[in-house]
Amino acid sequence: KKILVVFGTRPEAIKMAPLVKELYQHSEFDTKVCVTAQHREMLDQVLAFFKIIPDYDLGLMKANQTLNQLSARILTAIDEVLVDFEPDLVLVHGDTSTSSMVALASFHRGIKVGHVEAGLRTYNKRAPFPEEINRQITGRLADVHFAPTKQSAQNLINEGVNSKSVYITGNTVIDALLWGIHHVNEHREDIQEIKEFIKKNQKLIVVTGHRRENFGDKFYEFCSALKELADRKDVQLIYPVHLNPNVQKVVYDTLGNHSNILLIAPLDYEAFIWLLNQSYLIITDSGGVQEEAPSLKKPVLVTRDVTERQEAVAQGTVKLVGTDKNKILKEAFILLDNQETYQNMIGNKNPYGDGTASKQIAKALKSL
Ligand code: UDP
Repeated sequence: KKILVVFGTRPEAIKMAPLVKELYQHSEFDTKVCVTAQHREMLDQVLAFFKIIPDYDLGLMKANQTLNQLSARILTAIDEVLVDFEPDLVLVHGDTSTSSMVALASFHRGIKVGHVEAGLRTYNKRAPFPEEINRQITGRLADVHFAPTKQSAQNLINEGVNSKSVYITGNTVIDALLWGIHHVNEHREDIQEIKEFIKKNQKLIVVTGHRRENFGDKFYEFCSALKELADRKDVQLIYPVHLNPNVQKVVYDTLGNHSNILLIAPLDYEAFIWLLNQSYLIITDSGGVQEEAPSLKKPVLVTRDVTERQEAVAQGTVKLVGTDKNKILKEAFILLDNQETYQNMIGNKNPYGDGTASKQIAKALKSL
């Protein structure tokens, strides 16, 4: 069976890497990897860490391209790969322009599509934008769906997807994390620099934030909450700042000169999961980080109004706080000051998987 695995962004690469490594171990699959390189540097770092060399590299990253320009370029470029390799199945991931456009191109060519991390929904067209529609389109086009949780499988079934084509496997992000955390080289120079900033007697808050739905006023409000949080003497913040100019400007303008805040460039995956593991608390709007945190036993405040990842919210490890300054501060203070609440939040197992998702997906692919 010829399988083409396609991805383009950092989170997709992290989540597809363990699956690619698993598929390579099965001789009945002829597995090839194609990267659209929707994100360039951030993607390459992940490929290097997991030692994956793509067979096709479409290099589609371009500054300031619109979603429509990017989508058109993906459709055109992937078509040549489909003609060249003639896969039996194309595997795409999640909710990016790469996922939806590659699924559409494969459909046009009559090639089956498998969707990894299928069935996540907010049912809010605009949040997250454009991800919610990307995953709905991909779900419509896919022939086989690998849902991380019961809830995501149920979403698909409610939409009329045949339950026989839906497999509940857990999320491959946990496979990546459990492998990755054992392969971190703590002696790397950038990790040493971060270690020098971290003071043992202060609580470390790791922050990420870059979702489009929060750009503009909401982002200023979020940053002003962080600033006030950092005014506490017992707290330190480290924020790897996303390269998007909408994010960079606001963050550096508002938080640039605070002695308790370390602003750094986005970390590669290896350094980032090491950093998450050092934290006391995480504040983020990232999807992947919400999934990783329960495995590291870290509570998360999510700076969004909705999340397609409800499982950890229901369980208590993750709390939705939006971007309202007072709400963020209130919830952060509770976690900093109330040990009982803190322990209750981290006490559960990870609802997104146990590190065997890639194996389960490979097994399902064999049975198709
Ligand atoms: N991540 C990383 N470096 C960073 C921040 C995040 O490697 O500086 C990783 C993180 O561990 C997670 C993934 O990137 O696996 C999340 O990506 P992102 O927040 O960009 O996207 P989302 O998960 O929201 O789609």
